[in-house]
Amino acid sequence: MEASSRMRAMVLPGAGQPLEWQERPRPSPAAGEVRLRVLACAVCRTDLHIVDGDLLLPLQPIVPGHEIVGTVEAVGAGVENHRVGDRVGVPWLGHTCGHCAYCGSGSENLCDTPRFTGFHRDGGFASHVIAEADFCLPLDGLGQDPAHLAPLMCAGLIGWRSLKAAGHDARRLGLYGFGAAAHLIAQVAVAEGRQVHAFTRPGDLVAQDFARSLGAVWAGGSDQMPPEPLDAAILFAPVGELVPLALRAVRKGGRVVCGGIHMSDIPSFPYRLLWQERQISSVANLTRQDAHEFFSRIRTHPVKVQVKIYALAQANQALADLREGRLQGAAVLVP
Ligand SMILES: [Zn+2]
Ligand SMILES: [Zn+2]
Repeated sequence: MEASSRMRAMVLPGAGQPLEWQERPRPSPAAGEVRLRVLACAVCRTDLHIVDGDLLLPLQPIVPGHEIVGTVEAVGAGVENHRVGDRVGVPWLGHTCGHCAYCGSGSENLCDTPRFTGFHRDGGFASHVIAEADFCLPLDGLGQDPAHLAPLMCAGLIGWRSLKAAGHDARRLGLYGFGAAAHLIAQVAVAEGRQVHAFTRPGDLVAQDFARSLGAVWAGGSDQMPPEPLDAAILFAPVGELVPLALRAVRKGGRVVCGGIHMSDIPSFPYRLLWQERQISSVANLTRQDAHEFFSRIRTHPVKVQVKIYALAQANQALADLREGRLQGAAVLVP
């Protein structure tokens, strides 16, 4: 087989195993699909949960990766919204049914039979990927460098959805876990005139300095209390112990939003932490409307995207660095 009909991928054979380098035939897009040449794919904490077996895998082996920026290389029958040569993004939401109660009410993120990129179908830790054309996001006006766009496809979008869930009236905002999502959404929040309070692992002064450099008015350890009660807090760190800490830090009527797909168990806590109309909620997946809103916002208010670039073959190293908290911003694989 000619080299031009092959592709490279980092494949997860099964939960808890390292990714394996593979070459395989380049697949053809079916009706309604496109094939992309991957330009960059960021590494999300969800990929780590998939690799570590925190989430039950519906398909294995699987190619992870759902923060993809690529160029359309081939289009399947009936695709009219993307052409060969277009640059698009592929997020976690790879397919929805279009007719369940959630799809019908503007909550396609909660679709009863969704397909997620890099989970139900092979994702972007690869040189090429197949995606459903209707779920590819146009990227016009967002800048040219694919590696710096890739983290917007999940860290940015989930951050945006979490920020909306925190409420537009949340002026004093806490962010627990200052990684890829928080570093992006902190800038959006600051541009909106909110006061960002960044909570990092206790003693992580580098992350605290990083947060201040992006406009946080206060940064400290997650074991510290903010100088004033918060209107809302978003938890990006997958650590259940943070929920009661964040409830303690929010005012009466304040909200605690859990932004991750997986979290360690939340320890029991006294009811008085929840009382006085404090709320706990979660954010799941994204809608294409979120992408439309978020991309419109950052076209007019661009964000600085901090990345560490890895070759595709270094995917295991990128995952290890994320697991160990050695990253500032987002890890991005460039094939
Ligand atoms: Zn549905
Ligand atoms: Zn993600």
